[in-house]
Amino acid sequence: MTFCLFRIQSFPKLWKSNSYLPLGPRHSYLCLFMADSCGIRKQPRWFSLKTISSQNTKATNLVANSRYLRKYNGNDNQVPSDSLHFFSAGAAKKRSQMNSQSKDHDLPPVRNTIQLPTQPLNSEEWDKLKADFKGRSFESWIISQMAHDRSPVDVAKSLLAWVAAKNNGIVAYDLLVKYLHLCVIHKQTSEVIDVYEIMKARYKILDSGGYTLLIRGLIQSDRWKEAFLLLEDLKKVMTPSRKNYDDCIQGALLHQDVNTAWNLYQELLGHNIIPMLETLKAFFDFGKDIKDDNYSNKLLDILLYLRNNQLYPGESFAHSIKTWFESVPGKQWKGQFTTIQKSGQCSGCGKTIESIQLSPEDYEFLKGRIMRDVIDGGDQYRKTTPQELKRFENFVKSCPPFDIVIDGLNVAKMFPKARESKLLLNVVSQLAKQNLRLLVLGRKHMLRKSSQWRKDEMEEVQKQARCFFADNISKDDPFLLYATLHSGNHCKFITNDLMRDHKACLPDANTQRLFFKWQQGHQLAIINGFPGSKLTFQHILSYDTVVQTTGDSWHIPYDEDLVERYSYEVPTKWLCLHRKT
Ligand SMILES: [Zn+2]
Repeated sequence: MTFCLFRIQSFPKLWKSNSYLPLGPRHSYLCLFMADSCGIRKQPRWFSLKTISSQNTKATNLVANSRYLRKYNGNDNQVPSDSLHFFSAGAAKKRSQMNSQSKDHDLPPVRNTIQLPTQPLNSEEWDKLKADFKGRSFESWIISQMAHDRSPVDVAKSLLAWVAAKNNGIVAYDLLVKYLHLCVIHKQTSEVIDVYEIMKARYKILDSGGYTLLIRGLIQSDRWKEAFLLLEDLKKVMTPSRKNYDDCIQGALLHQDVNTAWNLYQELLGHNIIPMLETLKAFFDFGKDIKDDNYSNKLLDILLYLRNNQLYPGESFAHSIKTWFESVPGKQWKGQFTTIQKSGQCSGCGKTIESIQLSPEDYEFLKGRIMRDVIDGGDQYRKTTPQELKRFENFVKSCPPFDIVIDGLNVAKMFPKARESKLLLNVVSQLAKQNLRLLVLGRKHMLRKSSQWRKDEMEEVQKQARCFFADNISKDDPFLLYATLHSGNHCKFITNDLMRDHKACLPDANTQRLFFKWQQGHQLAIINGFPGSKLTFQHILSYDTVVQTTGDSWHIPYDEDLVERYSYEVPTKWLCLHRKT
């Protein structure tokens, strides 16, 4: 199929194509007839568009600014604070709520004082509004505001008509794109097609924002197949985004074109793009009307993809998965939403969830990776000096394996009201009573007498634990990771730091997932260690929160709509699926 660049169909409503006058190979004019139905003027007028020769058209020349302003309607629900695990969904948000009494989240944006019109305006009214405007480019400013505020399409259209009337029918690209944005969000398909025709006639290539909007708008229309051609055009400029693929896949499924949908999905994975969960959900939603083993196997592959990439479906996606399983004929799947007990047993079916402990192979692999990438990685000089790293390695190798490695500074600063050395001593002496071999990592400044660091208390710490004091400029968490991993799989570490930076240093999703799993199984976070009170740790989960199957059962953790989960937390709700026997 080829583009019909110059064949403009009659524009149905407001913008009508009256005639089209080719003026030679380099320039042609597309003249659009503008009727008065949007209240601009009594007289009809011309709205002409000049096609630009390919030499003049470069994507880089076009205004590439069409950001989509998606409003986040976050529900500020309250999460019960008790029973929330350190790594549980919602726990971080709760912690931050407890830590900050008042935080101004939304500062009011600096706004020009002009009020956006709610009705289409005529030329005189637009002229007047522009005269009141105190900024530089009135047209760009007002269309941006309208796009932001989701103004009605007819109001934006009256603006464009006014601009076109003043500029010999030319409307700048950025105005056109923002108008398109409004048409797409208001699902005005016929307007989308009109703008599509204008853009096709005027530009050989668009910027990614223009393509993205056109794809999104067209996929809903009866000209949905042209969205795939736009995707091809976009690929010539850049790798399409996961949202571009989502739009095309959803559109293909909407029009029952299953093969195209799967092909696009494969292509997306081939680009190493993580698909949107909406895309995956669409395959499950579509799947409940399809009785085909090949299709079913592809859905099971999607579940394994979620497992391998540590992804969790949202609540409605979990419902779609449940519905699909229960729709498979002859298999008798039964799904229920449930939780996992502390013991690691599913409250629904009683099966034991996979252990959080790493297999010996995974452990060795992760240890090797962390040593290489986090500790002696390319930027080791920023964290420590090679001399100090060597000194530390020799120190660790000279000691028998530790049971617990303590991040001294982090522990000491846990309760701002207590003296730092006293807090550290309290934690160390309570653990030493349990005959645990302890390593305390600290900085040299902790040994210098100060109001926070008393000499006698530090001497007591050194009697009860092995200590290593790094230079004051070193980052201590690489030492923490090294000493813990070197001591073996039994060794735990104490810090309330989440070490997200280190996870980010790791090279691939699989290693990051192993690190996260190891961290959940080995990190002790203190919830109470105030001097004089009993030391208590956050309970360590015994099971791994990940999509998993035994063949005749599936357990799928999912995110609840109303719980905001940070990337280092895991969901607490599960979908349990098993076959009735
Ligand atoms: Zn179960």
